[in-house]
Amino acid sequence: MLGEIKGLNEECGIFGVWGHLDSAQLTYYGLHALQHRGQEGAGIVTTNGEELKLAKGHGLINEVFSQQQLDDLVGHASMGHVRYATAGDGGYENIQPLLFRSQTGGLALAHNGNLVNAQALKSQLEAQGSILQTTSDTEVVAHLIKRARHLPLDEAIMEGLSMIKGAYAFLLMTEDRMYVANDPRGLRPLSLGHLGDSWMVSSETCAFDVVGATYEREVKPGELLIISDDGIESKRFSAPIQRTLCSMEYVYFSRPDSDLDGKNVHASRKRMGKALANEAPVEADVVTGVPDSSISAAIGYAEEAGIPYELGLIKNRYVGRTFIQPSQELREQGVKMKLSAVRGIVDGKRVVMVDDSIVRGTTSRRIVKMLKEAGAKEVHVRIASPPIKNPCYYGIDTSNSGELIAANNTVEEIEQQIGADSLSFLSTEGLNDAIYQGEESMEHGGCMACFTGNYPTEIYPNTVHPYEKA
Ligand code: 5GP
Ligand code: SF4
Ligand code: MG
Repeated sequence: MLGEIKGLNEECGIFGVWGHLDSAQLTYYGLHALQHRGQEGAGIVTTNGEELKLAKGHGLINEVFSQQQLDDLVGHASMGHVRYATAGDGGYENIQPLLFRSQTGGLALAHNGNLVNAQALKSQLEAQGSILQTTSDTEVVAHLIKRARHLPLDEAIMEGLSMIKGAYAFLLMTEDRMYVANDPRGLRPLSLGHLGDSWMVSSETCAFDVVGATYEREVKPGELLIISDDGIESKRFSAPIQRTLCSMEYVYFSRPDSDLDGKNVHASRKRMGKALANEAPVEADVVTGVPDSSISAAIGYAEEAGIPYELGLIKNRYVGRTFIQPSQELREQGVKMKLSAVRGIVDGKRVVMVDDSIVRGTTSRRIVKMLKEAGAKEVHVRIASPPIKNPCYYGIDTSNSGELIAANNTVEEIEQQIGADSLSFLSTEGLNDAIYQGEESMEHGGCMACFTGNYPTEIYPNTVHPYEKA
């Protein structure tokens, strides 16, 4: 029977080190810097040249690994993964890296993204007798590679990669090699760095800063890097095409101190806020941002509008992203636990509340209410991205379209539902300009499919949105 493929790899983080005696420890720190990309599970695989060793578990990095476990991961190369998952796919076996052992050796895989043709490939593999152990589409790739094992491994991997479609940043490791691949459109971020003579790979550059590594370059779309004790080699498994990096990475997912494709995230968000101030000005007394992801945009809005930026909302403590909590009821509780309005700042004021995005509208609705309860006279909501009207098939939890408030309501209707005195979103042009600053045109900019419905890859008729089945 064909098992369901659930969304397992959305918005995860991957980090790898080659050629360092403390490779597992460095991977631990690297993953810690990527913790915002996934808090549900983590794993590290290490090679000592002869054997692959894996440690993984549920929870945050510091919950998963003890000093003893890290000490046991002895070897000069490691790769790891932090995982984001939703209800129904939280099984231990799905925590990455996945490790497959065979007589010829081991193969470890870690993946960020989502394959749009995983379901089709899975049926094909099962029809041909493969037995898949996890519900992860990452495993599909392992089987494709295994099936091509008559070829040298480098070629088998290229063959496997050429069959998958969608978004993926992949790390693969054998006893003596690390393979790094970015999908033909480079939808997910992936960078190469180095620390002395050792190579590092990371979903985001903020992890390089944390471990003292230097950014080298992007892993190019359609590129396969092969790293070993002999050095680094670059191959292509797909012809060069324009990169369509996920715009949501700039809007929300990535850390402000990361550079994506050479562009700093904080600076991009600030420009989004400035563009929003020009597109949707309003008479107000203070501008406030929803911590943490919209602070940069709020600062940009305030600066451009000439209205003071204030800390009108305080994040009490780290509760974890609202999205991770499965039910609407719990999500609402989560938002409440996380944030409080500062009465001394908003009381009697006309407040511009800037947030990075609206998905279901839950956050905005609760925060408007919170600000009003704290005495705000008016609350003008300004969203530093366009309305999300379409589901993402590339591994991001933008929910199914039934839950996307902007898929089913006009801006006026949303304004009413969240109780705002006014509501405006940034235009797609404004977002594109804020990221690329004229460097690329609309036809060639990043992926904006969740806003525009214009998907940069084919979407298979049997593509299951990660959350429709989960
Ligand atoms: P909503 O409350 O409208 O469903 O979600 C939007 C809010 O959740 C924003 O404040 C945003 O910062 C946060 N958020 C958490 N996870 C995600 C995600 O996966 N995508 C987006 N776009 N926003 C998210
Ligand atoms: Fe990113 Fe949206 Fe494209 Fe998904 S559809 S990759 S969230 S820009
Ligand atoms: Mg937020």
